[in-house]
Amino acid sequence: MKILAYVLAGLLVLGGLIFIVGWQGVWVRLVVGLVLWAAAGALVVLAKMQPAQTTVVQKIDLSGDVNLQNLTCRQCGGSLGPKSVSVQAGAVFIHCEYCGAAYQLEEEPKW
Ligand SMILES: [Zn+2]
Repeated sequence: MKILAYVLAGLLVLGGLIFIVGWQGVWVRLVVGLVLWAAAGALVVLAKMQPAQTTVVQKIDLSGDVNLQNLTCRQCGGSLGPKSVSVQAGAVFIHCEYCGAAYQLEEEPKW
C-alpha cells in the first residue's frame, strides 16, 4: 500500500511536470499540473501517516490469534473466549466471564 502510494505520487509529480513544462501560455495546463503536484503531496502525507495505524492493527491481529488459541484468566485459569477480550486504544483488555476479573493484557513481543 505504502509503496503503491509513493509510486502513484511519483507518477503524479511526473504528469504535473509535463503539464507545467509544456503549459505554453495555456493557464489551464499550469493549474492542472499544480493540482497533480498537490495530489502527489497529499498521497505522500497519507502514506507517511499509515505506518502507525498499520502497526496497531498488526498488534491487535497478533493478540487476537493468541487470545483465540490458548488464553486463560490469570486469576481463575478459566479459558477466555473472544467475548472476554476487548481492544481499546491499541491495548488488550480482559474481562473474565468466570470470576469477573478485569485487567489489561501485557503482550510479549514474538519477534
Ligand atoms: Zn477468571
